[in-house]
Amino acid sequence: MTSTPACPRCGQTPLTALRVEYTRNRWGGSGPTPRPEEWWECSGCGWVGYRDTGTGPLTPMRRPEGGEADCFFCGEEGGNVVSEPWRREDGELRDWVVCLSCGTSNQRRVRGLPGGG
Ligand SMILES: [Zn+2]
Ligand SMILES: [Zn+2]
Repeated sequence: MTSTPACPRCGQTPLTALRVEYTRNRWGGSGPTPRPEEWWECSGCGWVGYRDTGTGPLTPMRRPEGGEADCFFCGEEGGNVVSEPWRREDGELRDWVVCLSCGTSNQRRVRGLPGGG
């Protein structure tokens, strides 16, 4: 059995497993397919994130505010979570958006961070 990790932010609440599946672009009429990551959220402080299946480190995601939280693909309000941005080798900033409702993920170019250079 895989043990349930404790929340990395508040450290008090065992995380709740989220079921994130690809529900779009189903080929051949097959049912929803689980995403390759394990997704978790904290019912205490609202932390949300994922880890690679099994024992990988937990990677935090954030819930964006406003229209950014709504999935462009399935229209689910507040369905999106966003990764920390990272800088590619060519200097471009990217982040990663995942809809927890339909399982669609998408890399985006980040234009200017608040307070960043
Ligand atoms: Zn927590
Ligand atoms: Zn969606």
